[in-house]
Amino acid sequence: MKSIKTKLPDSGQEIIDLSRKYSFFTWMPQKYANPLAIKKTEGHYLYDYDGNKYFDLSSCMVFMNIGHGNKKVAAAITEQLGRIEAVCPFDTTDVRAALARKIVEDIAPDNMGKVMFTLAGADANEYAIRIAKKYTGRTKVMAQYYSYHGSTYGATNLNGENDRVSPEPPIAGFLHFFGPNWRTSGLDFKDEDEACAFYLRILREQIEREDPRTIAAIFLETITGTNGAIIPPRGYHKGVREICDEYGILMVCDEVMMGFGRTGKWFAIEHFDVKPDIITFAKGVTSGYIPLGGVLVSKEIAEFYEDAEFPCGLTYNSHPVAMAAALATLEVLEEEKIIENSAEMGEYLLNGLKELQKKHPSIEEVRGKGLMCAFSTLPMFAGEEDNDKLVEMLLEEGYSTFTGHYGAIIVAPPLTVTKEEIDGILNAIDKVLKPFDERVPK
Ligand code: PLP
Repeated sequence: MKSIKTKLPDSGQEIIDLSRKYSFFTWMPQKYANPLAIKKTEGHYLYDYDGNKYFDLSSCMVFMNIGHGNKKVAAAITEQLGRIEAVCPFDTTDVRAALARKIVEDIAPDNMGKVMFTLAGADANEYAIRIAKKYTGRTKVMAQYYSYHGSTYGATNLNGENDRVSPEPPIAGFLHFFGPNWRTSGLDFKDEDEACAFYLRILREQIEREDPRTIAAIFLETITGTNGAIIPPRGYHKGVREICDEYGILMVCDEVMMGFGRTGKWFAIEHFDVKPDIITFAKGVTSGYIPLGGVLVSKEIAEFYEDAEFPCGLTYNSHPVAMAAALATLEVLEEEKIIENSAEMGEYLLNGLKELQKKHPSIEEVRGKGLMCAFSTLPMFAGEEDNDKLVEMLLEEGYSTFTGHYGAIIVAPPLTVTKEEIDGILNAIDKVLKPFDERVPK
C-alpha cells in the first residue's frame, strides 16, 4: 500500500493565498479577508511566518481562557483519542458522566438539573429555543437588540444585530426588545436605578401587548459580549426574572462568551444573584481546544422531558474527546485559580482603561466585568474605517484583537494574564489613541 502524505504549504503567503482561494472567511465580503497565517501558538502569544509575535488580546474569539499550549489539556485529548475516540450518541462514556455531573453539581446554579452537550454556541441556543417552546407549549421567543447568539437559522433570528437580516424573512415568533444599553442610548437617566426601571417597564409593556401566554422564553446575553461588553444596570436581571416568573416565561441566559471564568465567576449570572431556567455555554468550557457547547436546563425542565420526547439530536452529542478536553480545562481553571485571577486582573485592567479614558478625549466609554472589557471611541470614529485602523495600529504594536459591532474595541486577554502584561496592553492602547485624540474638535 502506498502511503499518502499531504505536503503542507510552508510559507505564510502561500497559506493565506490557498486559504483565501479555497475556503470562506466569516462575516465579510471575501475580497476583504486579511488573515494572519499562524505558525505557532504559545501561552498568550500568536506567531506568524514572518517572525512576528502578537499578544492574543481577544483570547482568539474570546474563548482561549486558559491560554495557548496547555500541556494538561493536550495530554487529556491525546489520551482520550487512544482510548475511545467516538461513540454512538445513544451510548455513553465515563468522561461524559463525569463532566455532566461536574457542570450540573459543582459549577452551575443549584436549580439546574441536566445538560445537553452541543458542538458550539449557536446550536446550544438553537436547542434552548426548542426545549423552551416544547416545555411551555408557547410559540414566541424574545431577545435583545444589540445581542448576538450565533449564526445558525434559529440563533440568527434571535440576534439583535443588523446582520440578522441575511436570512430574511425572519421566522415568525421571534421578537426583539431594547435591552439596557443605557449609558449610550441618548436617554437622560438620573442614575442606574432609573435606567433599570425604565427598561423593565418597556419590556413588561411589550410582553403585555404581545400576550404573555404566547411567549416561551426571554433570551439575554447575561453581559453583551461581541457588541461591546455592555453591562446591564443594577437590578435588571432580577427584574427580568420577576417578569418571567409572573408570566410563566422561561429566562434563558446565553453565557457562551461569559461562561467559565471570563467575568471572574464560573457564570456571569452569579454577579447578579439570579437563577435562570436555562443557560447556554460553549467557548471557555474547553478554551476552544476542541469545539464544545451545551444547554443547561432547570430540574423542572429536566423532569418534564422524562416523559416528553427531547427535541434535540446530534451525531456528536457528548463527543468523548470534547468531554475529556472540557474535564481537563475545568481542572486547570480550578488548580491554577484562573477564575480568581480573572476577577483580580479584570479589576486592574478596567481601572487602567478608566485612567486612559480621563486622558484620551477620543474614548467615549470603557466597560468591563472580569476580563471581558471593551472601550468605545466617540461616535465620530464609529465607522468601520476608523475602528479597523485602530485594530490595525494595535496589531502593529504587537496586540491582536477585533472590533465588536457598533465600534467597541474588545480587550479580553486570556484569563491567565499578568499585571505586567496588562501594563503593556494599556501602554499600547495609550499610544494608538493619540492620533484619534488629535481629530477630536476642541
Ligand atoms: N452566543 C454568544 C453570546 C456568542 O458570543 C457567540 C459567539 O461569539 C455565540 C452565541 C455563537 O457561538 P458559536 O460561534 O460557537 O456558534
